[in-house]
Amino acid sequence: MTLRIIGAAAFAAVAWLAVSLPAAQAAPCLIVTLTGTQSGPPAVNGLAGAGTLVRYGDDLNGCGAMKLLFDAGRGTNMRLSQIGVSPGQLDAVFFTHMHSDHTEGFADIMMLRWTYNSKGPKLDVVCSADAATPMGFTISCRKFAQHIGDPFLESGEIAQRNSEDKARVLGGPAELINLITFEPTNEPQVVWTSGDVKVSAIRSSHIVGHASYRVDTPAGSVVIGGDAGNDIPAPPRSSSTSEEVEKLAQGADVIVHSTMHPVMGPDRDSGMPPLVFYRQSSATDLGAMAKRVGAKYLMLTHLGPPMGALKQGPYKIPGGPLTEADYRKAVEASGFTGTTIVGTDLASLRLPPK
Ligand SMILES: [Zn+2]
Repeated sequence: MTLRIIGAAAFAAVAWLAVSLPAAQAAPCLIVTLTGTQSGPPAVNGLAGAGTLVRYGDDLNGCGAMKLLFDAGRGTNMRLSQIGVSPGQLDAVFFTHMHSDHTEGFADIMMLRWTYNSKGPKLDVVCSADAATPMGFTISCRKFAQHIGDPFLESGEIAQRNSEDKARVLGGPAELINLITFEPTNEPQVVWTSGDVKVSAIRSSHIVGHASYRVDTPAGSVVIGGDAGNDIPAPPRSSSTSEEVEKLAQGADVIVHSTMHPVMGPDRDSGMPPLVFYRQSSATDLGAMAKRVGAKYLMLTHLGPPMGALKQGPYKIPGGPLTEADYRKAVEASGFTGTTIVGTDLASLRLPPK
């Protein structure tokens, strides 16, 4: 009788393990990785251009069932290769704005996807709808995407490689894009969903058509501010940060944001045009915003100037090259007590932490 009870208990225990262990192992998780941290057009010391990869899944798939890329600056594909992510694995690419330091790596990604993944599926590309300006030009992510393969069509490469493998679509990589555009608004709007993952966007100031994003998953939430700054282009104003991004970031776990160090300001002698300085969010103001919205993590990226750089493009760095401590100090001045990550290429953050 005793034995039978033990036997039944043991069976129950095994059954419990069989049911509950996979569930425990399959806890949802999220990894945020900076695929590039360079600020603006300069090429400095091998840094890749701006980009953030958000991977989501569970413990069983290394938090990697879904892969969303936000911006694709110079060298993004190289950084992705270092973490074992190939273009064919991306589920969607989102663009904050049409500046080359956020876009010029996309042709590289699409050509590689075209070469080996022409049979599909198409890649969702999410960005702002065409925005005409009073100056007479139009910012068009739509055209950017439509023409992403043009140099390779014009050179004859697309036709040549198609002759070697008919699976490669003759129209080139643009044919593999499923373009999703939206009108940026002052309130968050959902622009992309898949399963239990939702991506929202909000209009933000930097250049026309700029948008900031938020990813919500059961493992946590991440805001990608891009190069957002305050709607008021110069002081006096309450902050250099965007009020729209702050709205989007309420209650978010992680804020990933471009930043400018205060040392580049017009009160010093960097020579940087005030417009260029003021349209970025200062590290101190980002810390203050992160504190106000209750974020646990602030990931600084697109550091102007890059750590260790002798110059920011043609502009001087008053006091000499900046260090991680300089950026950290600028954030600490805000009173933010969460975790600050001063971005380097491939800096990563996992939620929940291991
Ligand atoms: Zn930028």
